[in-house]
Amino acid sequence: MEKSEDEWREELTDEQYYVLRQKGTERPFTGKYVDNKEKGVYKCAACGNPLFSSETKFHSGTGWPSFYEPIEDQNVEKKEDLSHGMRRTEVLCSKCQGHLGHIFEDGPKPTGKRFCINSISLDFEEKD
Ligand code: FE
Repeated sequence: MEKSEDEWREELTDEQYYVLRQKGTERPFTGKYVDNKEKGVYKCAACGNPLFSSETKFHSGTGWPSFYEPIEDQNVEKKEDLSHGMRRTEVLCSKCQGHLGHIFEDGPKPTGKRFCINSISLDFEEKD
């Protein structure tokens, strides 16, 4: 999916644009999905790509929605991120290249991964 930054600016809210296109981070404990415990699918807020299942969401206490794995590995992309004097792994939507958050190695079983994701990059669809 190729869209110009002007098109993204038009489609997304200012806050979404800041996180998804400029790799910003929402303030902890402010996102709408931090404590969401409903069953369903979290999709990319920019393009609708299904990213995470509620089945893999866990309480991390960090203030951001946290998952131990994506719905499909191919639905996300991982990229080394050396910004802010840290070495981190960025996670992006593989369909629109939107910034989602970062992956850390302190997650629970079975993967040991913590996908630390901005609520604003996600759209939740409730499913039974
Ligand atoms: Fe996307």
